[in-house]
Amino acid sequence: MTTIRHYIAGEETGDAARTAPVYDPATGEAAKQVVLADAAQVEQAIAAAKAALPAWRATGLVRRADVFFRLRQLLVERKDELAAIITSEHGKVLSDAAGEISRGLENVEFAAGLVHLLKGEHSEQVARGVDVHSVKQPVGVVAAITPFNFPLMVPLWMTASAIACGNTVVLKPSEKDPSAAVAIAKLYEEAGLPAGVLNVVQGDKVAVDTLLDSPDVRAVSFVGSTPVARSIYERASAAGKRVQALGGAKNHMVVMPDADLEGAADAAVSAAYGSAGERCMAVSVLVAVGEATADALVTKVAERMRALVIGPGTDPASEMGPLITREHRDKVASYVAGAAAEGATVVVDGTEAEFAGDGFFLGTSLVDHVRPGMKVYDEEIFGPVLSVVRVASYEEAVALINANPFANGTAIFTRDGRTARSFEVDIEVGMVGVNVPIPVPIGAYSFGGWRNSLFGDSHIYGPESVHFYTRSKVVTSRWPEPSESQIDLGFPSNH
Ligand code: NAD
Repeated sequence: MTTIRHYIAGEETGDAARTAPVYDPATGEAAKQVVLADAAQVEQAIAAAKAALPAWRATGLVRRADVFFRLRQLLVERKDELAAIITSEHGKVLSDAAGEISRGLENVEFAAGLVHLLKGEHSEQVARGVDVHSVKQPVGVVAAITPFNFPLMVPLWMTASAIACGNTVVLKPSEKDPSAAVAIAKLYEEAGLPAGVLNVVQGDKVAVDTLLDSPDVRAVSFVGSTPVARSIYERASAAGKRVQALGGAKNHMVVMPDADLEGAADAAVSAAYGSAGERCMAVSVLVAVGEATADALVTKVAERMRALVIGPGTDPASEMGPLITREHRDKVASYVAGAAAEGATVVVDGTEAEFAGDGFFLGTSLVDHVRPGMKVYDEEIFGPVLSVVRVASYEEAVALINANPFANGTAIFTRDGRTARSFEVDIEVGMVGVNVPIPVPIGAYSFGGWRNSLFGDSHIYGPESVHFYTRSKVVTSRWPEPSESQIDLGFPSNH
């Protein structure tokens, strides 16, 4: 059996005192296992990151940038190999795994511009002979804790900016699909990153708690579910660390009566069922404005769903793969049964679909006449279940979304510019799409939700990440003529 281990100071290491199975979701077999770190192994990774910090932060910016240019090239060259690793442990189809790598590349490209990003400001002659300048310095050792659903992209969201800013990192990936993180760490080193700058510890809550409690860890980036995000934010910020903890989502897509309904139905199916709904930006609620819009959309979405090909991610014909675990598959299925019991209408019941073998497959479901207060609406499902909420007006749609505790992404489909612009102004959600169902910002902007979808002040990657991973320092300097030197006990004034 293959054992996936830690990667600390350039070495794969770690005995197997505690392990967890790593499944191939398409077959249901656990052909691999991952070691789960104890506190001592995490301390070892933190010590490696701390030891690598002085030399890395002293490395010239142009030399640092070289690593990202080379890393970009390696990610492009190894795309197929990396996609195969992702699919074998996550289950998503290979084209989707390749898409994840492409989006992660944007973060590497952003980091390659670090010479610009780390510029400070300078004011000459704020008083006679006095200049002021600001610098951005690394925060130190950063912990990066990532979820199962993007095992390569989310680690790149964090590591690229953190490392570009001169920090060193301990990455703790999901124990469900841990191989991609080790693959990335090796690629960084092949690209010229010194050993110890990026370390990977495999593990569960024990590893996370050790990172959160270590005085040597200065900042924590987390992406995962809302309850864990909230507890990580509270624990790490109480310990005085800088924290950004991105949580779960319930993303609403509003369809106005004037929208191109064929295009909206295509978008809804793509965004709800792509990656089996296991995306934090997946559309999980279709908000249809007007009964006629709702009736037409439900018919069009249901038609399209019947044509979807569900199968192993390695089969080029598959459009949707299995879910991550058997337990998760069964939990997702329970929401569909529960929705019927709560009075919603199950239009397409994916739990009835049959699949050969023991893979964690589930068919796609469409549930109409859903309302707040039903479990299928109130909770994040994170699977291939799309709910339809019928509302009478634009105002009702906005009020529904603004009242939801999650606020990661949302979208509106309309042909009317004024309605789209009002939505942009009125909606209280971090990422908004106009006729774009999954508005994940490009790498030059930052990603983040509001309310229970993000705890902390900084969004992730892009410009806000430079702020998050650096501390600013302002230097005031004076070079007086020797004859100008004088004693003055007053508060220094520039006037
Ligand atoms: P998860 O919260 O179960 O796990 C995330 C990470 O936290 C993993 O590394 C895991 O090992 C660790 N962890 C789990 N339980 C813990 C605990 N009690 N204490 C400390 N650490 C713990 O999330 P997941 O199931 O891996 O990922 C899916 C979730 O992530 C969904 O809720 C999804 O919406 C969310 N997500 C959010 C974003 C975003 O940008 N907002 C992006 C991707 C995924």
